[in-house]
Amino acid sequence: MRREWNFSAGPAALPTAVLERARDELLCLDGAHASVIELSHRGQRFGEVAERAEASLRRLLAVPDDYRVLFLQGGATGQFAAVPLNLARRGAAAAYVDTGIWSRKAESEAARYLDVVRIASAAESDYTRAARFDGIAWPADCGYLHVTPNETIGGLETYDLPDDVGDRPVVADFSSTLLSRPIDVARYGVIYAGAQKNIGPAGLVVVIVREDLLDAARADTPTIWNWGEQARQGSMVATPPTFAWYLAGLVFEWLEAQGGLSAMAEINRRKAEKLYHFIDSSEFFHNPIDPSVRSWMNVPFILADAQLDGVFLHHAAEAGLHGLAGHRSVGGMRASLYNAVPEAAVDALIEFMADFEQRHA
Ligand SMILES: *Cc1c(COP(=O)(O)O)cnc(C)c1O
Repeated sequence: MRREWNFSAGPAALPTAVLERARDELLCLDGAHASVIELSHRGQRFGEVAERAEASLRRLLAVPDDYRVLFLQGGATGQFAAVPLNLARRGAAAAYVDTGIWSRKAESEAARYLDVVRIASAAESDYTRAARFDGIAWPADCGYLHVTPNETIGGLETYDLPDDVGDRPVVADFSSTLLSRPIDVARYGVIYAGAQKNIGPAGLVVVIVREDLLDAARADTPTIWNWGEQARQGSMVATPPTFAWYLAGLVFEWLEAQGGLSAMAEINRRKAEKLYHFIDSSEFFHNPIDPSVRSWMNVPFILADAQLDGVFLHHAAEAGLHGLAGHRSVGGMRASLYNAVPEAAVDALIEFMADFEQRHA
């Protein structure tokens, strides 16, 4: 049994130290009589686990006091529907920015519930540059603006917002980038992120909502999707994903021990720059994204000869490098460099790629 380098886009690598601690505590959680998996979510001991996780996340992101943090199920995809349902009474329409596959999925799910207007799109650059906001036309009665700061599949990362957002709340799908760098939570009304990219195990989605947005839901919003109701009940409208919540808490504490998000940003920037620099200096590998909006977390790249894709993946696995296949919808390769992927993994990947190029170019 040997842990090898894992570049999977999600479920993705977790810090080894976190897994070791979870292993050590698995049979019996300190101060409990059983495994954390076996404890009632209503009991005191799990309550401590839950509170501790939230407090650590709040410190990491400097979440302002007037925001609530929810630990829910149903993934980011569930929130694609929860967003329009919960903000329905703020306006009959919503503005979406098209930055790639995930933003369009969010948009089409929302279109089932309200009038969706695509106010800007990166399509004109084939998703290699940020969407341009000059001359955008806001829909009348616009309840919110939705953005996707990091496109996990396309590898485009941008925090740009239109200048004239006004008092429209900005809702952001932060699934693959939350905790990779400091952000200003106050720029957003709602932040949501599926855990399995950069937070913890699958089965958990973290939602951070400004309090004034908790009471705008459509009356027929299912209770488990209702942010206000979840906030009132401490994310326990239904039994929450207790193990995933606990493990996310361990990840948050690990991040604090690493020096928090500024320290992680420094490491993440270095990891990504190294890999992009290598790709740019190679004749054989290619990443099409404009350098100003290249994702730190997900680095897609193609080989000069797509017929070698299978050989590349096969030899990479033999060299202990896993999870490098691109998303099934686009093919090619993708290296995800989340917080838990150490710089040594990136060094090993670059060394392998350089060697592969030598042998096959
Ligand atoms: C992975 C991902 C999703 C979907 O997440 P699920 O938890 O599978 O629903 C949505 N948005 C982004 C940006 C993602 O990376």
